[in-house]
Amino acid sequence: FFDKELSIDDYTETKRISDAFNHMMDKINKLEESRQEFVSNVSHELKTPITSVKVLADSLLMQEDVPQELYREFLADIVDEINRESKIINDLLTLVKMDKTKSELNVEKVNINDFIEIILKRLRPLAIGKNIELVFESFRPVIAEVDETKLTLAISNLVENAIKYNVLDGWVHISLNADHKYFYVKVADSGIGIPEEEQERVFERFYRVDKTRSRETGGTGLGLSITKSVIQMHKGAIKLYSKEGEGTTFTIRIPLNYIS
Ligand code: ADP
Repeated sequence: FFDKELSIDDYTETKRISDAFNHMMDKINKLEESRQEFVSNVSHELKTPITSVKVLADSLLMQEDVPQELYREFLADIVDEINRESKIINDLLTLVKMDKTKSELNVEKVNINDFIEIILKRLRPLAIGKNIELVFESFRPVIAEVDETKLTLAISNLVENAIKYNVLDGWVHISLNADHKYFYVKVADSGIGIPEEEQERVFERFYRVDKTRSRETGGTGLGLSITKSVIQMHKGAIKLYSKEGEGTTFTIRIPLNYIS
């Protein structure tokens, strides 16, 4: 058998198999790399609030007769850090659950107009706090087959960001439209915008354009990756248009009828 000369066909077949194998190995290596990066990011993000809590608690313990006011201030900071930690853990659990149940959408017929109104009602207090005008414009009534819980998360993230990364007295416009196949939700804001070179990266896990600012606003850097996962699970698409200092518009497109 081994003495048998290889024909051209045999060579082509061997080359095809070896190319496919190399391609698969490349994919496995890339997956492993991104897994390691994710674990290292998670550890870092979870460590930061704990380090702050330790510093705050240690400095209280080291001083004798801490004035009541300072004592309360440090305790309030400790509570903030603990809240932050629990927000990161919650977002992480949501992401992991979503990865595990990739195809498991709990799809039902939903009135999207009402659905958006409910989201905005919940987020209105956040907008009022910054005197931001929150407007919803619907071009037509839309009924679609979606996972209401997951989509609430996805769209809330977009509207919350539009308020968080906005200026005082700014505006957020949400619009709903549809054609025979898809419905479209647009969330536009008059906020700080996203620099062009960062626009692709904002969907990555833990990616934040301005870490200090995002920390101040309580951001974990996981919101948009959760949103993107949900949209992809619905076989939809998301894109963004943004200009620094002028504002950002996210547009999502989702099939009216769920394609399993
Ligand atoms: P975060 O929890 O930090 O808000 P996200 O994943 O939701 O994380 O967003 C990632 C980053 O993208 C944010 O930290 C912010 O820098 C930027 N970003 C998201 N939405 C907007 C927006 N509407 N305007 C300006 N920047 C935004």
